[in-house]
Amino acid sequence: MAETFKGLRLHNTLTRTKEDFVPLDDDHVRLYVCGPTVYDFAHIGNARPVIVFDVLFRLLRHLYGPEHVTYVRNVTDVDDKINKRAFERWTRQRPLTAEIRALTDDTLRQFHADVDALGVLRPTHEPRATDFIARGDGTLDMIAVIARLVEKGHAYEAEGHVLFHVPSMPNYGELSRRPTDDLIAGARVEVAPYKRDPMDFVLWKPSDRDTEPGWDSPWGYGRPGWHIECSAMSGNLLGEVFDIHAGGLDLIFPHHENEIAQTCCMTGLPRMANYWLHNGFLQVEGEKMSKSLGNFRTIREVLDDWPGEVIRLNMLKTHYRQPIDWTLKGLEESEKALDGWYRRAGDMSAAGSLDADVLDALADDLNTPLAIARLHQIETPETLKASAGLMGFLPETASAREAGRTARAGIDMAAVEALVAASTAARAAKNWAESDRLRDELAGMGIQLKQGKDPATGQPVTTWEVKR
Ligand code: AMP
Ligand code: ZN
Repeated sequence: MAETFKGLRLHNTLTRTKEDFVPLDDDHVRLYVCGPTVYDFAHIGNARPVIVFDVLFRLLRHLYGPEHVTYVRNVTDVDDKINKRAFERWTRQRPLTAEIRALTDDTLRQFHADVDALGVLRPTHEPRATDFIARGDGTLDMIAVIARLVEKGHAYEAEGHVLFHVPSMPNYGELSRRPTDDLIAGARVEVAPYKRDPMDFVLWKPSDRDTEPGWDSPWGYGRPGWHIECSAMSGNLLGEVFDIHAGGLDLIFPHHENEIAQTCCMTGLPRMANYWLHNGFLQVEGEKMSKSLGNFRTIREVLDDWPGEVIRLNMLKTHYRQPIDWTLKGLEESEKALDGWYRRAGDMSAAGSLDADVLDALADDLNTPLAIARLHQIETPETLKASAGLMGFLPETASAREAGRTARAGIDMAAVEALVAASTAARAAKNWAESDRLRDELAGMGIQLKQGKDPATGQPVTTWEVKR
């Protein structure tokens, strides 16, 4: 045990305590995060688990080596909202399942563009649910999981549906720790005459051949329930039991509880994953984000106004288990903080050694606010670059960042450089009127000049940045 403990401690929802992280396999860590349902633009709340667990992925890669971490983040591309939208645009030129694929391809492309801009690494695998319904290659798929559950008496067929029978699992509810009354009350929402118990949930349901996508199965033409995809995809790509399973707080019940029920009843093992991590919720300017309140923000919209790196820092300033209040003021402060780090890191391209306090903070259940506070104190450019880099910050040099901003602001770099050079020459010639005129001309283009002296030579130097 001492051998494989590398100092990482994680808060485990299963035990409600912070635990030493010890992987099942000494030199291979397996991580699964429930990913997006790709029917529309992802919102800024959806960006939270993506960014937070990207930091975990980076940290694990640092501790165990990049080749020793497998990160799976699934894509839910079958869902009633998707089905409805695909049906609306269906022209009957191709099967409805092909229509769904085209619709979700577009949404997935947009999702990738969004999260790439947030500095998020691509996971090792991004399985799509529709590729794991009926694989036909003998590897684990949803139909196989359901068939095994039926075989073992944990699931039953009723009116074209297959349902998981909750009372067949004596320790159901261990993750969410909800009292049974609560579970039953929650389950009553979906009352159906074919259910043996109100808590039973759907594994497979029938599809209408004319209006709904479907797949052939031993229980007829139909489609999977929501929870089964993660049991099939994690089982296929990570094995019967793996190390870390994560997602937003809202997934604890029923989604994760039901994933555990499906997987554990199929494998006969007590655990699906050893550590369960859940991020807190994001709200906007003190209110729950919702379309009716008019404060609903997609990642795309926020990226129109702010660089991805500012959004990333703003997200990580709060500990992942706390609720986060997304505010304009917070974004402004995050941008200032990044400006300071870039100023200090300058054009240093080589990263130095990591700051021990930053690493300790991250290893303590991803304490990003503490790690960020420490970044503010690091003076050595190489150490700052390396330590910020561990969290996915400062991917470029200060000059490259400035050039990127200029391009985004539609500023002509060559013209700016020429005016800046003329301004430096005017100052050297003590032509203050001309130097002031050039400063104003640049200001009119959105460029702020910064005059100073080279500490080594004493010569006047002029730097500039794009004003916000
Ligand atoms: P969904 O596409 O709704 O299934 O959500 C994808 C991921 O985003 C899940 O892990 C959710 O828990 C998470 N999520 C959704 N809304 C929020 C929010 N407002 N704050 C934080 N996480 C969220
Ligand atoms: Zn899931």
